[in-house]
Amino acid sequence: MATKRIYSFGGGKAEGNRGLKDLLGGKGAGVAEMSNIGLLVPPGFTITTEVCTAFYENGKKLPKDVLPGVEAALRKVEALTGKRFGSPDDPLLVSVRSGARVSMPGMMDTVLNLGLNDRTVEALAKRSQNERFAWDSYRRFCAMFGDVVLSMKPERKEDRDPFEIILERKKRAYGVKLDAELPVVALKELVGEFKAEVKRRKGIDFPEDPMQQLVAAIEAVFRSWDNERAIAYRKLNGIPAEWGTAVTVQAMVFGNMGEDSGTGVAFTRNPADGRNEFYGEFLVNAQGEDVVAGIRTPQKIGELAARFPAIAHQLEDARARLERHYRDMQDIEFTIERGRLYLLQTRAGKRTGLAAVRIAVEMAEAKLITREEAVLRVDPAALNHLLRPIFDDGARHRAIEDGRLLARGLPAGPGAAAGRVVFFAEDAEAWKARGEQVVLARHETSPEDIRGMNAAQGFLTAFGGMTSHAALVARQMGKVAIVGCEALSFDYDARTMTVSTARGPKVLREGDWISIDGTAGEVIEGSLATTPSEVVQVLIEKTRDAASAPVYQQFAKLLGWADKARRLKVRANADQPDQATVALAFGAQGIGLCRTEHMFFGEGKIGPMREMIVAETQAERRAALAKLLPIQREDFAGLFRAMGGKPVTIRTIDPPLHEFLPQDPEGVAELARATGKPEANVRARIEELHEANPMLGHRGCRLGISYPEITEMQARAIFEAACEVAAEGLDVRPEVMIPLVGEKKELDHQGTVVRKVAEAVFAERGRKVKYTVGTMIEVPRGALCAGAIAEVADFFSFGTNDLTQTTFGISRDDVGTVLLSYLENDIYEVDPFVTIDRDGVGELMRIAVARGRAAKPQLKLGICGEHGGDPSSVEFCHQIGLDYVSCSPYRLPIARLAAAQAALRELALARAEKPRKPALKAAAPNGKARAMNRALAVPGVKGSRKKKARAHARA
Ligand code: PEP
Ligand code: MG
Repeated sequence: MATKRIYSFGGGKAEGNRGLKDLLGGKGAGVAEMSNIGLLVPPGFTITTEVCTAFYENGKKLPKDVLPGVEAALRKVEALTGKRFGSPDDPLLVSVRSGARVSMPGMMDTVLNLGLNDRTVEALAKRSQNERFAWDSYRRFCAMFGDVVLSMKPERKEDRDPFEIILERKKRAYGVKLDAELPVVALKELVGEFKAEVKRRKGIDFPEDPMQQLVAAIEAVFRSWDNERAIAYRKLNGIPAEWGTAVTVQAMVFGNMGEDSGTGVAFTRNPADGRNEFYGEFLVNAQGEDVVAGIRTPQKIGELAARFPAIAHQLEDARARLERHYRDMQDIEFTIERGRLYLLQTRAGKRTGLAAVRIAVEMAEAKLITREEAVLRVDPAALNHLLRPIFDDGARHRAIEDGRLLARGLPAGPGAAAGRVVFFAEDAEAWKARGEQVVLARHETSPEDIRGMNAAQGFLTAFGGMTSHAALVARQMGKVAIVGCEALSFDYDARTMTVSTARGPKVLREGDWISIDGTAGEVIEGSLATTPSEVVQVLIEKTRDAASAPVYQQFAKLLGWADKARRLKVRANADQPDQATVALAFGAQGIGLCRTEHMFFGEGKIGPMREMIVAETQAERRAALAKLLPIQREDFAGLFRAMGGKPVTIRTIDPPLHEFLPQDPEGVAELARATGKPEANVRARIEELHEANPMLGHRGCRLGISYPEITEMQARAIFEAACEVAAEGLDVRPEVMIPLVGEKKELDHQGTVVRKVAEAVFAERGRKVKYTVGTMIEVPRGALCAGAIAEVADFFSFGTNDLTQTTFGISRDDVGTVLLSYLENDIYEVDPFVTIDRDGVGELMRIAVARGRAAKPQLKLGICGEHGGDPSSVEFCHQIGLDYVSCSPYRLPIARLAAAQAALRELALARAEKPRKPALKAAAPNGKARAMNRALAVPGVKGSRKKKARAHARA
């Protein structure tokens, strides 16, 4: 049987439904479902995403065999509307819209009012008894068709839309300001001039045949899947190119038929903070695109009842039905045509992290969804919104008192951001690339600005409401944003922004600092200090009482439910007691990685460390180590105490030694002074330590093997501290971890050193503590030889930073230069240093898990590379059966939620497969899981080891 390629809907039923999102796209599935549940939807049909694939395979032409289906579907729409496509008497007009399986707001193209030509426009005028409306629709159609289908849209930022230029000219000629003030005769002239422009630029006559228009528009919408901004958006959001878009062709209804018509968009709950209130905007006498484009600032949905009481009532009813039906917050589009309400679209509404948590928790408490569903509803990375700083209250008050509050706008993206103001998306990207922090300010943003928006700390627009492009993107990207800030006006040529303030106009130039508060909607001059979020105030700073912190309460509830669902334990990468305290507050169940070398950068510690490195004899080295011993012991004791008996994994020294040495002449002189050595000797030693490729050189366990006295000192510090803290009554369990092991004998060697010291210390102190010795698996040989290594290891911890580096053969410090072109050319889908590469690095991990556990079934397994806080990687770690993930303290909430989601998804999959397969296959992720991971992954470049070390050196 041939595959079904076109799905009709309308008249209270539909061939498709919400389950066919992959085929029909979000939009197609939404209108089908709404038709099925009896909401009034203009009839139409959806051409599937499979046809999009066929279109590309067919040299970007609609396959011939699709056309008869389109014609047949069109006949059904004609039957339902009683109108005929191309009829000179009562013409059917349609919209042609894109719709991928996940929403890509504004990224692809749409054509409205299709079917108009010189004959049908007259019929429309007659039928609607509104000549102005008919010609206004016609001139809009000509421009849209020219831009979208005939590719007349400007390509460069500096260029203007050719139809806009003609329109401006026309308004000047008629002495009017607004489009709506143009008389019918001007609109008719515009149509002629638009068509002449098409002929002039493209050398073709504007197509009059509606069927020809339709095919060309369908093809253009399919083509728009591959336009530059859609590609950029897909990359940012990990959407695979092969998904394709569906095309929905739908009977037009008109919100611009007069004062009894209108159009709007609404969220069934507040998308910024999650409050359970109907939240939206509408414009009277306008078409849908006017609202989304943010060109006119619309009225609030609450004002609808005053103007259209019956419609407001119906809309409220649709809101309740849609939420009950979808059991999620919906984002709906509607049109009122001459007092009749039509729903045009429904989809799960994009929301800030703040709103996501609140909506999930409140829906679970209202029993609309289960707690497990609530846990699955929140994108783990979105929890960052709840941890993000806000402006320091004192600093904000002072700024306001000083008269630096410039303006207020709509708070579209919560949080606080400060940056230098730029006015073009390209500049935001360029400035960011050279290390500047920027805020992008514009009249309004458009999909072309997507990359610049990603580069900016936040954005500020003069126009548009909470559903404008800038607001949608802010919520999706988790950026700080203020929109509809009407006090702003821009002179793009002069690169200035003028704010009309109570005290007169204030001009800001490109590069000036501004601060924007996306929670309060305030624009403040200068760079303002920030303060921690409510969650951080309660948990970390302890400056706020949980009872008075509603955001914290929801956060805690959701994570509590997550903790019940997860199997993976979470640990933190922490080197200092204060970090350990933060980690505990965020739910750490242990420390998964203490990088002991970080401890050497503390006050008064680097000196003896450097002495140890430049030592020329073992005796000298031992003398320096003796100075380091009490320092390290104190550090470890602090960590054990802070963790209150929870496991602490301490890694022996890892980086190449030159990272600890001064490179500047003063530093060298000082080191010479401190060690009593001639400067030349110190310089010579530094040179001797120089390596061509230090990350693959003398580091990791190789150091401990060359200089066992270093490992001895560290082991002694660990066990003496453990005995000391055990004596205070805590159940201390140190886990000593040896880095960069690729060969069993390396671990054997270092393990023996550690165990010998442990026994010696226990004998001296007359006390024993339980401890383990394990290794990092962070070079491919270590993973492949995991069976042998496991024989001498109590645990493995995957060091996926180095494992990625050594598996790919790409230096983790230099990947930035490679990455951009690799991501751009689709060679990598995501940065492998952010999200585990399941096929390569992941395969090595699977091998290590299998071989390690085969040799030692009770082997404990964890991960402590940066990937331990990345949601997709956490899911992978769950799937391959690790015991824990370890990540930086502030990423713990993300890891907890991601671990819970992994467990719940596995459970759902097992339940779904149960009738067919008795046992769940744990290891390899299926295609669905892979797609999910891709969708969750956010590309970005990770900070390098050198940078980390330098940052610590500075601290
Ligand atoms: C790793 O390599 O993943 C790791 C945790 O160690 P480091 O980043 O310190 O090399
Ligand atoms: Mg490492």
